[in-house]
Amino acid sequence: MNIVILSRKATLYSTSRLAEAARQRGHDVSVINPLRCYMDITSHHPAIHYKGENLEGIDAVIPRIGASITFFGTAVVRQFEMMDVYSVNESVAISRSRDKLRSLQLLAKKGIGLPVTGFAHSTKFTEGLIKMVGGAPLVVKMIEGTQGIGVVLAETQQAAQSVIEAFRGLKANILVQEYIKEAKGSDIRCIVVGGKVVSAMLRKGPEGEFRSNLHRGGKAALVKITPEERSTATRAANIMGLNVAGVDLLRSNHGPVVMEVNSSPGLEGIEKATGKDIAGTIIEFIEKNAGPGKTRTRGKG
Ligand code: ADP
Repeated sequence: MNIVILSRKATLYSTSRLAEAARQRGHDVSVINPLRCYMDITSHHPAIHYKGENLEGIDAVIPRIGASITFFGTAVVRQFEMMDVYSVNESVAISRSRDKLRSLQLLAKKGIGLPVTGFAHSTKFTEGLIKMVGGAPLVVKMIEGTQGIGVVLAETQQAAQSVIEAFRGLKANILVQEYIKEAKGSDIRCIVVGGKVVSAMLRKGPEGEFRSNLHRGGKAALVKITPEERSTATRAANIMGLNVAGVDLLRSNHGPVVMEVNSSPGLEGIEKATGKDIAGTIIEFIEKNAGPGKTRTRGKG
């Protein structure tokens, strides 16, 4: 097959592993920076040009769209879909998963366990909002944040009030969330490919840090997940309409709760922690499922 990886940099671990796995399995691969693409949005001959060349004969696309380029990146994925090229994660699902609030609302609607979460526009009702999620300690999260940036643990009612007012004063949209203390600074990242959890790791933040992001110095280890965690992760990926997803869970007193569903999960941490060939599994899934017009818009949100 002729596979395109949409990524800004061929040397990134996940990008290079996907390219390597595809080549090993006998495919032609090119890494294309979506920001260097320009598109012809015509009814009968939609096209994508890359560095002056018209892209043709592509069988499948693997989008690795960073959060900072979601708007243009998903437009490029959508254009491939217009051209009937199979995308392993469809553009609508990527956009959906990028909005933390929208994602949580969709997951809640389907009964997935979530930390109790509140959202408000005005700071007039902050007291009520704090009460609604069970009071302090609580977590305040910027909706647009990634890699743990803009995620704050407010330990007292007063701290919570100040942090919420400060974020809102800067016009940032925030979620206010029950703090899952019993997770003890750890979370579980499950990699779901084609409706199955193919790998899972436990991430733990450094001493004194409640955020377990690997980018923030967290450490990863292999973990055995429960059947309930497994089904929560696969259901969450399915609700978001993602064939490839990184589902982040917290182990709470009331069972597994989903924090986030990531459409471009990093492969480095999980492959190194588990020794599994996740990139190969993704390519294998594409081999089985790619075909013209096979990208289907699933879900409604
Ligand atoms: P980001 O998308 O920026 O990584 P997350 O929502 O995943 O933000 O939060 C970052 C980290 O903070 C998580 O990996 C987790 O360890 C911790 N965390 C987030 N929300 C909660 C919560 N409600 N209770 C306990 N820990 C949390």
